[in-house]
Formats: sequence, structure tokens, C-alpha cells
Amino acid sequence: MTTAILALQGAFAEHAAMLDALGEPHFELRCHEDMERPFDRLILPGGESTVQGRLLRDEDMLEPLRKRIEAGMPVLGTCAGLILLASRIIDAGANDRTIRPETHLGTLDVTVERNAYGRQLASFATTESFEGIGTVSMRFIRAPRIIETGDDVIELAHIDGTIVAVRQGSQIATAFHPELDDDTHIHELFCGL
Ligand code: GLN
Repeated sequence: MTTAILALQGAFAEHAAMLDALGEPHFELRCHEDMERPFDRLILPGGESTVQGRLLRDEDMLEPLRKRIEAGMPVLGTCAGLILLASRIIDAGANDRTIRPETHLGTLDVTVERNAYGRQLASFATTESFEGIGTVSMRFIRAPRIIETGDDVIELAHIDGTIVAVRQGSQIATAFHPELDDDTHIHELFCGL
């Protein structure tokens, strides 16, 4: 089973290191031609979702990836990756709940608020329980908050009552960065889908 890691921008190398540690084959997805290589799973890394979304659109990768995710291909989205997957997005400080099919995948039935922790708490780390795994370290960097979930969405982790990880079918998404700590459990969970 081969994992494609979206490598347009952001923390893709750290995900590659996690998969190396697990002995899982992977390659970087940088442009439309890379989509011709066979892959079974997809990782959407952290970074800047607006930049990644525009590059996905410009490279003509958005629609083919959306189709494959909708057809059941496992996907792991972390931080900006969660935002790319979310069906509804709010920018912190704004009121409108926008859907941006032209620059987002929109396959995960959640509403996220971008940059939700404000400047004071822009980056922080904590340790919390994750469904099916146990205690994991969670590092947040200008993270989004999941503020609504659809009926098919399972909540996997919370901090202070806020949802920070979810699963819907073969889609797993975290508001934090599991690739930035040594713990490979979340990647193992994903590779087992
Ligand atoms: N704030 C970023 C965004 O809105 C996400 C930050 C991250 O991926 N660490 O895309």
C-alpha cells in the first residue's frame, strides 16, 4: 500500500519521516502528473490552507482528489489538511460559514474555525486521550477548531471540550500535528484503514 503525501507547501517532510519510521512506502504529490502514479492513501499536511487550496486548484488536482476521497480512499488531514477537508469554514472573527468548493475538498462533514485560538495561544502543546490509542502528545500551531460535526462524524479527541480530532469513514482529521512528535500511533491507525 502506497501513501501519497501532498507536498505543495507545509510540513510534508515530517509526515514522510513518520511513514519511514513505520516502513510504509510513500511519495510526494506535487503536480497533476504525480497523480498518475498509483497510490492507495493520501496525507494532507499542515501549513497554510489558503495557499495549498489555491495550488491544488491551479494544478488541477482538487477535483480528482475529491472524487477519490468520496470513493473511499483513506485520507489523513492535519491542521491545514483538516481545513482543506472541511465542508464548512469560518475565518476567526468573521461570521460567514463559507463553502469553497473551488479551493477546498469539502469532503468532511464538519465546520472549522480557522486560527481559532487567537494570538496568545497561537502555538501550544498538550497531552490528551485519543479514541482507540490512549494518551498522545498534541502540538497545535495556529490551529483550527472543529465547531460542528455531521451525523456520520465520530469525535476522536477533545481538549477542554473542544473537538480536536474526528473520523468520518476513511477520513481522519486532526487540528494538531501528530507528525511533529515521536509518537507514530496516529499514522499507524491511518495506515491500518
Ligand atoms: N492557520 C493555518 C491555516 O489556516 C493552519 C496552521 C497549520 O497547519 N499549522 O491554514
